[in-house]
Amino acid sequence: MIAVEEAIDLVLKNSFPLEKTEILPINQCLNRNLAKAVKAPIDLPSFRLSSMDGYALCLHHSNSYSIVDEVKAGDAVNPSLKLGECVRIFTGGVVPDSADAVIVQEKTIRKQNLLTIKTLVKKGQNIRLIGSQVQKGDFPLEKGQVLQASGLAFLKSLGIGEVEVVRSPKVTIIITGNELIPSSELLTRGKIYESNSILLQAALQQQEIETQLVSFAEDTLKATINALEKAFFNSDVVLVSGGISVGDYDFVKQALEELEVKEIFYKVRQRPGKPLFFGKKDQGFVFALPGNPASTLSCFYVYVLPLLTRLKGGKSNGLIRVSIPIAHDFSSDEPRALFLKATIQNKTVSILDGQHSSMLVSFAKANALVYIPEQGVFLKKGSLVETLLLPNTILT
Ligand code: AMP
Ligand code: MG
Repeated sequence: MIAVEEAIDLVLKNSFPLEKTEILPINQCLNRNLAKAVKAPIDLPSFRLSSMDGYALCLHHSNSYSIVDEVKAGDAVNPSLKLGECVRIFTGGVVPDSADAVIVQEKTIRKQNLLTIKTLVKKGQNIRLIGSQVQKGDFPLEKGQVLQASGLAFLKSLGIGEVEVVRSPKVTIIITGNELIPSSELLTRGKIYESNSILLQAALQQQEIETQLVSFAEDTLKATINALEKAFFNSDVVLVSGGISVGDYDFVKQALEELEVKEIFYKVRQRPGKPLFFGKKDQGFVFALPGNPASTLSCFYVYVLPLLTRLKGGKSNGLIRVSIPIAHDFSSDEPRALFLKATIQNKTVSILDGQHSSMLVSFAKANALVYIPEQGVFLKKGSLVETLLLPNTILT
């Protein structure tokens, strides 16, 4: 059994960007990582443009100008100005080659075609220069950059329609457990509604990763081996739910051994999620996640997410960690490290009731996980605790 930090380290040490890349239209690249640095095909902006609504001036030594023309955004005109002449111009309009500066309309007085300016004007003022954001031939985004809404829009603003990104990992989910039934069936004695398939699929979806396949395996060695074999055949990552503990009907460990999966670690000194397994088969990875739903999700966030992020070509280590004051006293004499469902509110974190690994109710309300290192603690209200922000949690 190893410590949480060691286990996370082993995940990170074993994960590299997938070698395969694909060229995709920009609108399919959200959350993808660039496989190569992107070269700017144009200057940005590609012409001198006005950043304000006002007047483009051909400067001279008086504060009076005659207005001779107009340039709206999108116009291709290039009026030729003499000293003391100006054009009405709007934000985004091309500044005529003969103009030296743009003055905002609020700082002028206009009487018909005569303009009086009320302040000093500096050469180049309110003009965005060609290439001032990015120059043609530059590499503004590096290999590995994750593409968010802003990144996609930036590429579009360069006129780029498609881009080479690291292929998204192919993930297969295997659900084990004879007691599990779908919510469409009537609950009968001994059965429970299956929930880990949607749990994992949704958590993957949040990372823009589509699940290749969800398969269900009975609690037998043969069924477990079959499901694993199929999964390894066409996935980069296999996530197994349940069956990895030491019960007589837990066959996942044995099946992994029979398939000669290389064990990277098995069992972590943590709660929830002690019997977590991480291994490798050829180029593929497998996580066997303990089946109690809160364990499954906790292990997903702490261990699976960093692996997926790295496979996608990203550099982050998974959930963002912050140090934040706890809103109440807290003590624990648990020797294992704890990941506790919690909520952050008003810049403090509160640990929720209902921490058992079978309980999703607290997880459903949580926006963070408090991490308590091994060996127990006694924390006074206001002490700082290491806290992992669940996806979409923003500290305000
Ligand atoms: P296991 O890890 O297979 O020993 O399962 C531990 C506990 O989690 C058992 O009470 C299972 O019934 C429950 N469990 C396992 N898999 C699922 C699942 N897919 N959905 C809901 N509960 C599950
Ligand atoms: Mg089971």
